[in-house]
Amino acid sequence: MSLPSLRRRVFAWFSRNSRELSWRGTRNPYEILVSEIMLQQTTVAAVEGYYRRFLQRFPNVESLAAAELTEVYRYWEGLGYYRRASQLHQAAGVIAGKHGGIFPQTFDEVLALPGVGRYTAGAVLSIAYDQRLPILEANTIRLHCRLLGLTTNPFEMETNKRLWTFAEEILPYKNVGRFNQALMDLGSRVCTLKQPQCLRETPCPLFEWCQAARLGLQREIPVPKVKPNVEAVTEIAVLVRKRGRILLVQYPDGVRWAGLWDFPRCRDDGFVTETLGELTGRRITTGRQIATHKHTVTRFKITLRFVEGKDCGPLSEPQYAVRWVTPEELNALPMNSSGRKLLRSNIVGEKFAAGTGNHDFADQKPTLPDSVGRRSNSCGHVGNRTGQQ
Ligand code: SF4
Repeated sequence: MSLPSLRRRVFAWFSRNSRELSWRGTRNPYEILVSEIMLQQTTVAAVEGYYRRFLQRFPNVESLAAAELTEVYRYWEGLGYYRRASQLHQAAGVIAGKHGGIFPQTFDEVLALPGVGRYTAGAVLSIAYDQRLPILEANTIRLHCRLLGLTTNPFEMETNKRLWTFAEEILPYKNVGRFNQALMDLGSRVCTLKQPQCLRETPCPLFEWCQAARLGLQREIPVPKVKPNVEAVTEIAVLVRKRGRILLVQYPDGVRWAGLWDFPRCRDDGFVTETLGELTGRRITTGRQIATHKHTVTRFKITLRFVEGKDCGPLSEPQYAVRWVTPEELNALPMNSSGRKLLRSNIVGEKFAAGTGNHDFADQKPTLPDSVGRRSNSCGHVGNRTGQQ
């Protein structure tokens, strides 16, 4: 049960079972970085199509660094967690500028890139340059916790430190990137959360090294995360039309969906007209409900009401950028997924549905910003309390 035999076992299993993924096989650090940033908090299945399209448009650091962030968002649209796109864009700028377009090769330099943490730096450098650096992500955390028989929280400091030490100890001295990829695949395909292979009919290649299997604690390890309480929230998005255009807002820096466009929306809390007035700088009254959309994001169970709205003219300086958009302009604007979904559903109209272009991106589960401010406005029009229309 030595480390060399564990490594041999991992490599032998990987030779027969490695997953066919678009980013497998590349040693290009930029391509690996793109895949790793996309895979943060997103499943492999969701990333596949995005990765290919992104690299077709931004095949190298220079092309990404030179692009407008708006266009980068457009290629990220639907993948969610847009901060990753902005940080990847910034990282490309740092590599193109500070490093003269040459991808850095030291751990500290890669770790210093925007959006890059210890896992991502280790993954990029081990896969691209075979540097002996460990990785720890969801699959390997679960695998290592079981191999070590850890009954403590893997995110608690001491346990996490132990996991990193173990991840480093078991690394081979060559083919490190391949070994890291093999461990991730083993975690995701063999040592699964609910049905690890040792509890099924096929034996696990690491059974002899596994403390959890020896102790019969596969179902107890890793200790589950404490689930947050679910909160029900109702949001409202407003369709405002004028002379063949619709009103959209762009989220500013510092809020969720920063840089993306959307229908004016906020919490449906009885202060909708006031909030929309602050966001858009316009008096907007709400009317007939057109559709509802339900989804869950993190601890929020969200019901989104999509309603018609009426523009009653300017009110004040808007907090968000505001634009009256034609169907033709829509394809160039990056939008959040639920906004794009509403357009594609044809509720807004055929021309606008056609204007959403042909990016067949996977659905992102959207989340919504809090309402801003709580002041009454001077609009004398009907409907200044949503829900009473
Ligand atoms: S023996 Fe079971 S619990 Fe242990 S690593 Fe293999 S699949 Fe996971």
